[in-house]
Amino acid sequence: MTNVFDRLTGQRAVAQELTDAATAARVLATRLDAGPSTPAADFDAAELDASVLDAADIDEPDFDEPDFDDPTFDGPTPASLVVPRASMTHAWLFTGPPGSGRSVAATCFAAALQCQHPDVVGCGECRACVTVMAQTHADVRHIVPQGLSLSVDSMREIVQAAARRPGTGRWQIVVVEDADRLTEQAANALLKVVEEPPSRTVFLLCAPSVDPEDISVTLRSRCRHVPLATPTVADIERVLIDRDGLDAEAARWAASVCGGHIGRARRLATDPEAREQRDKALALARAATRDSTAYAAAEELVKSADAAAKAISAERDEAETEEMKTALGAGGTGKGTARPPRGTAGALKELEKRQKSRATRVGRDTLDRALVDLAALYRDALVVSMGAQVTAMHPDKAADIAVPMAAYASPEQLLRCVEAVLECREVLDQNVKPKFAVDAMVATIGQVMRPS
Ligand SMILES: [Zn+2]
Repeated sequence: MTNVFDRLTGQRAVAQELTDAATAARVLATRLDAGPSTPAADFDAAELDASVLDAADIDEPDFDEPDFDDPTFDGPTPASLVVPRASMTHAWLFTGPPGSGRSVAATCFAAALQCQHPDVVGCGECRACVTVMAQTHADVRHIVPQGLSLSVDSMREIVQAAARRPGTGRWQIVVVEDADRLTEQAANALLKVVEEPPSRTVFLLCAPSVDPEDISVTLRSRCRHVPLATPTVADIERVLIDRDGLDAEAARWAASVCGGHIGRARRLATDPEAREQRDKALALARAATRDSTAYAAAEELVKSADAAAKAISAERDEAETEEMKTALGAGGTGKGTARPPRGTAGALKELEKRQKSRATRVGRDTLDRALVDLAALYRDALVVSMGAQVTAMHPDKAADIAVPMAAYASPEQLLRCVEAVLECREVLDQNVKPKFAVDAMVATIGQVMRPS
């Protein structure tokens, strides 16, 4: 096995920053271990406001280049100080679109923070690294909002658990995978603890962007921001071949159409259903121009998203229900969790409700993915029609759809189609029934594209 950060494809700068921070965190943890008499150990909220706790005891938070010639500078010698900006903080925000590897980055960082190797940070081989990467480390908690959003109750529970001292690890780490799905109340509960963090607790939040729609401004302001770069097509192709063992042709194709998302590329290369789903979404561009085909295609798209969601959920639901039944039969003594209700029926009903809400979310995500694909196809046509030199998002559909579409529609018409798709995504986000939203979109596209 190799260093955990090797998994971050095309994110060299991020990997370096996180390695430096994890190195700084070691120094800090050692000081905390040494006890409260060490000055750096009382590491309170006021200090955190500066968002920087440096490894080298340089007390200027906004330095770029420490002045090593300064006789008062008493940090390590420049030679041993590889990256002077190395610093550690309690709350981090990893941003990038779904599939960009933001939660992988957060998990790798968690491993590096807990890594027990004496010289390497995030060795990938020690017990801490292995268990963090497998998501079984006792001091690293992964929060994946399963429903449409993460409730305030579960957030309080998490916050409470996070305040405990770490067991075997250096830190008590909480990874919140979709921080954009926090309810306002849950975000507030999280904000409170991020503002006054227990000395051994680290929060790693993941969100699509720093847009206020995705993460509250106050919460964002308390976190150190790590934006993930979109990996290049060549980077993705290499990962698919080297790590996933895909053949060169499949890898090249998947890398070229995945929009920079490695997970998506892998799924497209390996899952025929994902390919079919994509084809259906893209076929809607042509179908929408004719009344006779438009609504059937729209219905088909909504249905297939639904089916995909059901397939994904069914497997997980069954396992969960079994687990819950076993737990209740055995007395249900989950450590640190709220006691399950007396009646088995009540608990199972609660679980069913959660599973339903999760299925809805998976269905929406699938449909949203399809709409993103469709918008990208109109954008491709727009690029062709304006003669711009930009890489196509769906190069495999250029000859078949994008180029012919550019020939019969004006840039204004194509732009209007992009807008119609984006509007559809927006109303879906506001809980409009998928069927109505997609029908309305198809109607608009039909109107826009009709020859006048
Ligand atoms: Zn390790």
